Amino acid sequence: MCGIIGMSNVPEAAHQVYLGLYALQHRGQESAGITSVDDDGRSHSHRAMGLVSDIFSPARLDDLPGRVAIGHTRYSTSGSSELNNAQPCLVDYHTGPLALAHNGNLTNAHQLKADLVKKGSIFRTSSDSEVLVHLIARSEARAPEDQILDALERVEGAYSLVLTIGHVLYAIVDPRGFRPLVLGKLNGGYVVASETCALDIIGASLERELQPGEWLRIENGSVQDLPPLPSKQHQRCVFELIYFSRPDSVVFGESVDAVRRALGRRLAKEHPAPGADCVFSVPDSSNAMALGYAVQSGIKLEHGLIRNHYVGRTFISPTQAARTEKARIKFNPVRGVVDGERVVVVDDSLVRGTTSRSLIKMIRDAGAREIHLRIASPPITGPCYSGIDTPTRGELIAATHTVEEIQRHLAVDSLGYLSADGMHEAVAGARSGFCDACFSGAYPTTVPHNQHDELPLDIPIPAVVK
Ligand code: AMP
Repeated sequence: MCGIIGMSNVPEAAHQVYLGLYALQHRGQESAGITSVDDDGRSHSHRAMGLVSDIFSPARLDDLPGRVAIGHTRYSTSGSSELNNAQPCLVDYHTGPLALAHNGNLTNAHQLKADLVKKGSIFRTSSDSEVLVHLIARSEARAPEDQILDALERVEGAYSLVLTIGHVLYAIVDPRGFRPLVLGKLNGGYVVASETCALDIIGASLERELQPGEWLRIENGSVQDLPPLPSKQHQRCVFELIYFSRPDSVVFGESVDAVRRALGRRLAKEHPAPGADCVFSVPDSSNAMALGYAVQSGIKLEHGLIRNHYVGRTFISPTQAARTEKARIKFNPVRGVVDGERVVVVDDSLVRGTTSRSLIKMIRDAGAREIHLRIASPPITGPCYSGIDTPTRGELIAATHTVEEIQRHLAVDSLGYLSADGMHEAVAGARSGFCDACFSGAYPTTVPHNQHDELPLDIPIPAVVK
């Protein structure tokens, strides 16, 4: 998953992009980058591994002049975690610099890459996003917009994009609309970003959310709607609302916080815990769900777990070793809250079961008499191919174990998952148009064969990217 942001006609755009990336840090913590285009049309770029605040200093940002800039925070769903794959991807296009930042995952990138390599393309990264750049560059259409369209017509899967060619900023959402993208206004300029929290931090006002298939051209303080991409059935990612997006954002027209409270209320109806003394969340992503559970059930809400905020999201670390170690240092139970008590622990999802298992042990060691685990989404039974970093099927605990087995593995007194119907009703009432493939197995695009393999890295040509 990734966070993306773009700005046009904004003084010192890179400084504002930096703040926006700060707000989008939760969407990717492996690397970050900003590319700006100065008034003479020259590009300036800085990308590095690590957190936004560590990568950019005021002096670094001063080296990224211009009123047009895009930025990216990354964690890898395709391609490995290394600087080469950090975005924005910047190339010398025939009319000027072309920079691209991508959130999503292209499901046919392997085949497209193999074809392109056969035709002589030389790739310098192992990320799927570079395929788009090659497709644009190789298109036989003449106008840049036709070239982009050519490329988009060939890719399958999830993409929300910000892309600059010279001073023109494009914002594009794939026809299924897997990943969010919003348009905001900042004085005389425009901002596009993955989530509204990135607009809030810079004081931009929300204009609207981009619809699936929508494509904007933004230049010199004006926004033009380009003809939408050919329409497909909408597949908004339900996991954005459950886990990924920030609760203070509005995503797919819904307040993430309100959706999470509704999920918690529904969970309490489906899986009550009579006789429990208190309920608490696994902070932070399930805070609102625990609140909803407490309101619905009448069980007292507590802060039973404290999260160390200086540790990144455990999952986002690419290796299992890093994950395991971080799980232990990330949370600590409040002994005074749990000691001797019958507690309900609410979490948004269970993936591998590794974090939860160590958490439950910690809560037990802190004296909890009974632990009732409630999960505010259904069992995850399949990997995501549309941009969420879920592991292979074999690593997903619910793909290979029954609820009873998981309950035993986690050593909880009871375990309740929200039903699929409960999730859909809480998320969008009667509305359809969500992708729930990780829960249902109903994949909206062809499932790639070797999703977790790398796109092979070819001989790098350092001159191409600045
Ligand atoms: P585990 O116990 O290892 O299954 O981890 C469960 C925790 O991972 C939950 O608290 C979720 O909030 C979190 N989680 C779920 N999906 C993801 C994801 N794609 N990336 C990072 N963390 C996740």
